[in-house]
Amino acid sequence: MNAHASPARPLSVGRYAPSPTGSLHLGNLRTALAAYLSARARDGRFLVRIEDLDRNRSRPDLIVEQLADLEALGIEWDSEPLRQSGRGDIYAGHFERLKRTGLVYPCFCSRKDVQAALSAPHAPAGRGYPGTCANLPAAVAQERIARGDRHSWRLRVQQAPKSFFDGFAGEFRYDLEAEGGDFVLLRSDGFFAYQFACALDDALSGVTEVLRGADLLDSGLRQAYVLACLRLAPPRYCHIPLMMDEGSGRLSKRRGSADLRAFADAGFDALAVRSYLAHTLGLCEVGEWPAMTELVERWDLARVPREEVLFSQQTLAAFGESQSP
Ligand code: GLU
Repeated sequence: MNAHASPARPLSVGRYAPSPTGSLHLGNLRTALAAYLSARARDGRFLVRIEDLDRNRSRPDLIVEQLADLEALGIEWDSEPLRQSGRGDIYAGHFERLKRTGLVYPCFCSRKDVQAALSAPHAPAGRGYPGTCANLPAAVAQERIARGDRHSWRLRVQQAPKSFFDGFAGEFRYDLEAEGGDFVLLRSDGFFAYQFACALDDALSGVTEVLRGADLLDSGLRQAYVLACLRLAPPRYCHIPLMMDEGSGRLSKRRGSADLRAFADAGFDALAVRSYLAHTLGLCEVGEWPAMTELVERWDLARVPREEVLFSQQTLAAFGESQSP
């Protein structure tokens, strides 16, 4: 138990869960900082999990780099980071549990098949999956599996709650069954899907708050549903607006948006970058360099801007020029 936690309050546990498929860009680091501050502001624990399930795209050198970047910002984690690539047996155990309840079924549709079915004239509007394989007779499915037909496994979305509470956006209505549809838990290449592994790991690690970018709001709905099916308690999901780049595009790891090394090469100290990020979270003035303890004191979700934040080279430069403490 964390020495600072009051015994009367359940322990808060926050986390950051990067995929080692690219360098962390400023938007990623901003989310990591926010998740960290939110956990520490409640005297909570903070975990880092490496989401390296997709072995074709994950790079070990990036794991080292990403952890070093978090450290450079002063973000500390409380136990050895979990690596999803080593947890296949755990996922498989829980997946079998779902299989026994009949909540998952094999799906033989390729991505192309799904797209074609969705663009057919009478396809259900707005759905992510039209349900093609949802009611295949078990004998047919078994025969196709035995024949070696490529298949994924989908989770049936039924009786899902019609609203979702997000810690940042508040309560909103969303019909996962009508608007999303059944989604993949085990991919046809044999890897467990992000929605399943992420939801499960958060629950099994005792995470109480998932604070991350608003681009993952859709995932929050699905992950909460996965956990409900597994009868595991969901964390509080909290999705904050993203940071966009100056061309008003989305920062993306793949597009190589500037990372900490690029800023270091341009002469910016990691702490100048951290202070800039804290500024974009509503926590300090331009040019101010608060210590981490001070940022923890100041953390308040209500200070985080309600809109997307535009990355500004000029504002960052103002932090670089100001005096370090
Ligand atoms: N691994 C995902 C990513 O790097 C984020 C997962 C999450 O925070 O839930 O985009």
